[in-house]
This record gives sequence, C-alpha cells and structure tokens, in this order.
Amino acid sequence: MSATRILVIEDEDSLRMALCDALRAQGFELLEAADGEAGLALALAEGPDVVLLDLMLPKRDGFSVLRALREDRLAAAVIILSARGEEWDRVQGFEYGADDYVVKPFSMRELLLRVRAALARAEGNAPGLGALTDPRGKTRFGAVEIDFAAYTLTNGAARHGLSRKELELLRYFLLHEGQTLDRLRLLSDVWGPDENPTTRTIDNHVLKLRKKLERDPEAPRHLVTVHGVGYRFTKSGENA
Ligand code: CA
Repeated sequence: MSATRILVIEDEDSLRMALCDALRAQGFELLEAADGEAGLALALAEGPDVVLLDLMLPKRDGFSVLRALREDRLAAAVIILSARGEEWDRVQGFEYGADDYVVKPFSMRELLLRVRAALARAEGNAPGLGALTDPRGKTRFGAVEIDFAAYTLTNGAARHGLSRKELELLRYFLLHEGQTLDRLRLLSDVWGPDENPTTRTIDNHVLKLRKKLERDPEAPRHLVTVHGVGYRFTKSGENA
C-alpha cells in the first residue's frame, strides 16, 4: 500500500513548513504549495488523499480552489485552515465540499486527529475513536464518564444507558469538540442515507443526550445550541 499523500496549500511559509514536517514525521507523504494557483494545479496533477487548504491565499483564494477541485471531481478530503476571527461561512464551506476545518492557531495533535478522521471517513470506517478514549474505551470530563464498550454514560451518581445512535452522535461531537456542527453535516456523517432521518431526528437525539449529559438539561453547558445552524460540544462547558 502506498503512503497517504497530503497536499498543504498555505502561503505562510513557517506554518506550511511546520505542518509538512509534523505530518512527514507521522509517515505521510507531503506535497506543498504557497499560493492558490500552484495548489490547484498540484492537486489536479497529483490527486492527493487529503488537502489542507488555507483560505486567504495569493493568486486564488481557498474557496475558489475548493470549488475548482470539486468541479473536477477530485475525491481528496479537504480540511480548511481558517484564521481566528476570519469571517467565513462554515455552511458555505461545507456546501462547497469541505470535509472539515480547523481554526488557527491549532495544535498539531488536533490537526492529526482531523486528518485521521477524514481518512477514516473516506475509507468508510467509523471516526478515529481510538484517539479519544483510553484503552478501556472510556472518556471522562467533569462528572461525566462515557463507556463506549458498555453503552453507558455516568453523570455523578446517575448511570444512563445510551442507544447506539446516541453513542455515535456523542462520539462525533467528541471528535469535533469546539466546532459548530450544522444539522446537515450531522445528518450526513452520523446518519446514513438509508435511515431517512430529518433535522428533527437530530434535535430529538440532542435532547436525549442533554438529559443524560447536562446537570441542567434546560440550560445546557456542554452541548449548546448555535441558533440557526446546529450544535457545539465542549468538555469544559460554555455559558458557565
Ligand atoms: Ca494565508
């Protein structure tokens, strides 16, 4: 099996080099470009498995590169590298075919998780749960312990069972901690096309998760609503 190839399109030299070094150290093969035109040409010529795409780029901006890639039916997973405070429309990004995004400054560990999750999705496997849990398949934060093998969530003294779908949704939120996830993305990534879900299905599952996860389900801190978009999960909790 040939090595997984990652194309980094980023005009900031120090960041591009740091990304390439870190990913190379993980055994990936790297391609790099410092502007949108060169990046697009390289992507189309080489067909990488993953593209890390900055948005503000000389010659051709990231969205234009993304559109062109998808028009050419390039199958690469595209992860957008977005600067903090940079106003961009996440929904539009996903409509254009971005698979994920990270906000700068991000840690290499976070980026690696995203890359591995994108690769796992591309192969039709479940997200990289292994990176999130200890060897016994448990995740803890605050008073909450989730046991993925036992399908249970313990919150203080209360122990709750989790349905398979609740567990999958929770796993997805954990994997994308801190990101605002819109309903359409949750539908496509957590529910399969043959399950006939609606956005209402998601809302119902979120309500059920909140009852088990939150101290006060009416005033959620871990699994918050982002009005008009979807939901965001954090282990530390918001609105404290
Ligand atoms: Ca840039």
